[in-house]
Amino acid sequence: MPDIIHLLPDSVANQIAAGEVIQRPASAVKELMENAIDAGAQTVNLVIKDAGKTLIRVIDDGCGMSDTDARLSFERHATSKISKAEELWHIRTKGFRGEALASIAAIAHVEMKSRLRENELGTRLILEGSEVKGQEPCAAPAGTSISVKNIFFNTPARRNFLKSDAVEMRHIVEEFERVALVHPDVEFTMHHNDNELFAIRASSLRQRVVNVFGARFNERLVPVKEATDIVSVKGFIGKPEFAKKTRGEQYFFVNDRFIKNGYLHHAVKSAFEDLISRDAHPTYFLYLKVDPEAIDVNIHPTKTEVKFAEERAIYAIIRSSVRNSLGKYNIAPSLDFDQEDVMNIPPAPQNATIGAPKTKDLNFNPFEQEGRVPAATAARGGGTANWSRNWEELYKVTEKQREETAPMFDADTEPKDTTPVGPTMLDLQRKYILTRIRSGFILVHRRRAHERVLYEKALASLENRAGLSQQNLFPQTVELGASDCALIEDLHEDLHRLGFNIDGFGSGSIVVNGVPAEATDMSAQSLVENLLEQYKNSSDRMRSDHREKLARSLAASTAIRDGQSMAEVEMTDLIDRLFACSQPSLSPTGKPIILTFDMDDIDKKFKVQ
Ligand code: ADP
Ligand code: MG
Repeated sequence: MPDIIHLLPDSVANQIAAGEVIQRPASAVKELMENAIDAGAQTVNLVIKDAGKTLIRVIDDGCGMSDTDARLSFERHATSKISKAEELWHIRTKGFRGEALASIAAIAHVEMKSRLRENELGTRLILEGSEVKGQEPCAAPAGTSISVKNIFFNTPARRNFLKSDAVEMRHIVEEFERVALVHPDVEFTMHHNDNELFAIRASSLRQRVVNVFGARFNERLVPVKEATDIVSVKGFIGKPEFAKKTRGEQYFFVNDRFIKNGYLHHAVKSAFEDLISRDAHPTYFLYLKVDPEAIDVNIHPTKTEVKFAEERAIYAIIRSSVRNSLGKYNIAPSLDFDQEDVMNIPPAPQNATIGAPKTKDLNFNPFEQEGRVPAATAARGGGTANWSRNWEELYKVTEKQREETAPMFDADTEPKDTTPVGPTMLDLQRKYILTRIRSGFILVHRRRAHERVLYEKALASLENRAGLSQQNLFPQTVELGASDCALIEDLHEDLHRLGFNIDGFGSGSIVVNGVPAEATDMSAQSLVENLLEQYKNSSDRMRSDHREKLARSLAASTAIRDGQSMAEVEMTDLIDRLFACSQPSLSPTGKPIILTFDMDDIDKKFKVQ
């Protein structure tokens, strides 16, 4: 039998490689844009016709190529970016596999024009299905322009597999955004069928996010910043109240490369835990820098997956830095973080060694804004742990201010001398509490506030010690269905921690001897029913730890109802307890509790004519 193995011609090998690298027009967009960035471009223009099916053109003002390099760039494994295997561990460019241009040329008609800055003339190169059809000198601006026409002309299976223009266009825009988001110092434009879709100037990182996703994002972003030896994290998270039901903007960039990573996504998601409901998706734009030696970017042809050497540590750091930012933000929900330049990354020169990210102020503290918060508070810094103390600070001032406002609020309530010392509370519709803080006033959603307080208390009881149980005068029998009885029996131990004293598990009923202190004014029957209802409901919607669920359910079933009356002492007590919570601004299911009204803003509103 004759030998049957032979080497595939390059054009076939390239076509096979193209199958991996170029799956749709958007893949070509990504590769071409990344090459432009690697070439040090300051401006990158993307031109698309018919969702990329007819034309994809990327024009850059980068370093350009010599005649020979232009030709070589289309060879498989032709790259200027690495030459030795070890260099794979020091990659600072986007490309390094040297297969993008070869792959693109294998499945499309390609025209490249390129000129080195120092040369008078550039070069023009025409390829069709890996074959060079011609090369000639030509006049061209410094930089490179590559046009990819009739993509998949020779691979009908691929061509037929393409989705509608709208879908393909969405993929293209996505790739465009991913590149634009990591290079705020580069100007980008994008046209589709002669319509301008994007024209974004070089700017700060925050401004770039806003330019890409729209002005409404500005108020939604909270900065994140953390520098450790293993990883530095910076960027933005979306405020919890803007979390979406549909998967929204979630971006990880590692060393300026967009990546997908379920594990790290989980780190962010878990940092948002108890601030947003389980089915909501937090927004984030997180830029990680790690030592290139500590990641492997070469595990996926499109390089959207990387392996981290210290994945667990990075997980913990991301989680805590996001948590930290959420804490800072929560301390004053109305505080605007519109600090345009704080997160700005100074553009690094191409090929420069990129060290730890530098920001203008490594100790950026959003509370150090003049006139916002008492200086003493600012001096202590504004971590999550300082929550209650910060609020106390706001409060002390209010007590002094109280005299001025008291008459107004007290007018038709109790006489002054019976009112306990403390900030004046005004009840609104038996639903909200209005009270003053130093910079204005706040409206507190009573029920949600109470839920938050009860929830954190329940969690603490579940974790540490038994909650206080109030022994019933007479044990109460509660009738339940068989499955509910079984559920109660399952939860028995935790219920005991929460302050329930239950026994007599029988057929269809239980005996309740004691209930948590705050639930004494409810009948045992309705309390238990309510609790089970909440618990079962949340188990459907939310995949969460059962203790957390139990705490949330108990809080929801025992919290004060809208319409129930509250004495001023009770309101004061509630507010005090709320501000001692670790997350006072959001209910256990992620709904806002506090609205802040700033005197300055109010003054401004009255001024406008
Ligand atoms: P890689 O980016 O992995 O090196 P490519 O096939 O994408 O592989 O590109 C091959 C080479 O062509 C690059 O290493 C680079 O030297 C050159 N090149 C590609 N695009 C450009 C461009 N826009 N400007 C300058 N050089 C380019
Ligand atoms: Mg490349």
